[in-house]
Amino acid sequence: MTSSQITAVCKFFGITGSTDDWWLRIGLYESWGIWVFWLFWAFLIGSCMGSFLNVCVLRIPRGESVSDQPSHCLGCGMLIRWYDNIPVFSYLYLRGKCRKCGMKIPPRYLLMELFTGLLYAGALASAGWNSQPPEVLAVNIPLLSLALVTFQIDWKCRLIPDQTTYPAMVVGLLVSALLPGAFARESWMGGLLYSGLGLAGMGIGLALFAVVGEKIAKQEVFGWGDVKYMMAAGALAGLPGAVFILTTGSIFGVLFGLYVAILRYRRGRPWRGVRIPLGPCLAAASALWVFAGEKLLRLWLFGGM
Ligand SMILES: [Zn+2]
Repeated sequence: MTSSQITAVCKFFGITGSTDDWWLRIGLYESWGIWVFWLFWAFLIGSCMGSFLNVCVLRIPRGESVSDQPSHCLGCGMLIRWYDNIPVFSYLYLRGKCRKCGMKIPPRYLLMELFTGLLYAGALASAGWNSQPPEVLAVNIPLLSLALVTFQIDWKCRLIPDQTTYPAMVVGLLVSALLPGAFARESWMGGLLYSGLGLAGMGIGLALFAVVGEKIAKQEVFGWGDVKYMMAAGALAGLPGAVFILTTGSIFGVLFGLYVAILRYRRGRPWRGVRIPLGPCLAAASALWVFAGEKLLRLWLFGGM
């Protein structure tokens, strides 16, 4: 393949990796200090976002608004002041307890803040290493955030709420028009088309699959929450990205299902017809897409590079 053919194929699949090395321009190869500075800021922003995602995970399944009331202790109802609400730091400082009543705050709150911070910093590092334009962060960060919330809510409640997937679709469409470079497109129309195609393709394809599959199997094969998650993934990653996430997520799902079935079989419990939530598998696949998707797509298309 000639290099212009490769460029054309890359563009078709929305592969953005370029020689324009912004990573170099912001000085990241020059000194460890600058490295630490940028990654630290990404971690800080991520951990604040993780704090907000905790609120989403707690309130959305209960049908509460995420913005109406300020954060309060679930034990005594005391409002949490700003200095007790600093991500990661406050949890460690208060040793995971409410300042007033001493009720234990589950460590998953701390883990979510830490993990979101690490994923945001990782997204920045990965975009740089893969020579992707910085615009990809504007779709990768929302995709990671959606994945983090979906992982927890679907795991706990077997639910992927519209309050997370609909905003993600809107963000995907908006970013594609405002920053078409995120999908290797030049005009707002090209970007919007690319993102819209991902959303519509997933919506139509999976809705058909869900309806026909239910008729044939006489039970739900693919939940509507999963369909909407994949539509949001389509808007944020384009059609190739969404197909990658769907395929990898399904493989994760099969492996996870097998693992659970074997565990139950060993313990002598009924293992046939074990149903596992697909959301966490799709979420893990989304993270894989963000960190290695383009590399894997290139590997598959061109055998490397
Ligand atoms: Zn309390």
